[in-house]
Amino acid sequence: MKDTTKHPCFNKENAGSCGRVHLPVAPKCNIQCNYCNRKYDCVNESRPGVTSSILKPFQAAEYMDAVLEKEPRITVAGIAGPGDPFANPQEVLETMRLLNKKHPHLLFCLSTNGMGILPYLDDIAELGVSHVTITMSAVDPAIGAKIYSWVQDGNTIHYGEEGAKLLLDRQLKAIKGLKDRNIIVKINSIAIPGINDDHLLEVAKVASELGADIQNIIPLKPTADTLFADIEEPNHSLIGPLRKAATPYIKQMTHCKRCRADAVGLLSKDQSASLCGTLQACAQ
Ligand code: SF4
Ligand code: SF4
Repeated sequence: MKDTTKHPCFNKENAGSCGRVHLPVAPKCNIQCNYCNRKYDCVNESRPGVTSSILKPFQAAEYMDAVLEKEPRITVAGIAGPGDPFANPQEVLETMRLLNKKHPHLLFCLSTNGMGILPYLDDIAELGVSHVTITMSAVDPAIGAKIYSWVQDGNTIHYGEEGAKLLLDRQLKAIKGLKDRNIIVKINSIAIPGINDDHLLEVAKVASELGADIQNIIPLKPTADTLFADIEEPNHSLIGPLRKAATPYIKQMTHCKRCRADAVGLLSKDQSASLCGTLQACAQ
């Protein structure tokens, strides 16, 4: 039986002793968030969506071997992009299968927008995925329409409120389906001033009603060449009260580092720069 408390993001008390690795095996995405610009970079930027390389599943398994040799405190293997895991489901499931065979002691974690996860709920439960994060920043399609440019369902692209409603519907079903399978669920909610900051309490309430375990309200990191590039990054005086108001409904994460898609190491000591060469060697 794995000790699920050894996940440093879900359990702050273990963040100083347990590390995580993000395996960048999922380049494509099935939605467009208005704050996201995925750029492949080596060490210059630290934010979600950034990685120095993309790995194939067998390369991710080899990289995992190398990482564990250098940093044995890693307890979690996660996939957080740089796109969305379920826009790349075959690569993600194959990676999880390989890790399950080679490193069954690790906790497995996936971070997704929730759009494409529903057909794979049984697979991920069988593969031993214990932690899933769903990024849900609105529970009202009118607000969601301001956050997402489009969502893709099969070959069809949906825009505006129609797209936001479809995404929300999938997210709500995903949270319930994950909890039905005893998977620990975190809700990431991006706080975007003037767009959804006064709506995040509603998100917390809905997440709580569905049984989600923890919410991570993350300040927007304004990024060049995005629609939200000119919005000012919210500071603690905005985020602190939001977390405080949400706490009676759902436990709050307060130590998120807004990691890269190839983050590795302890949360307080990211080693993606020093392991960049190892990652790139595995990617060849
Ligand atoms: Fe970017 Fe993630 Fe949004 Fe996709 S779901 S557009 S990868 S932030
Ligand atoms: Fe953990 Fe936040 Fe980093 Fe995700 S982005 S691995 S939740 S610290």
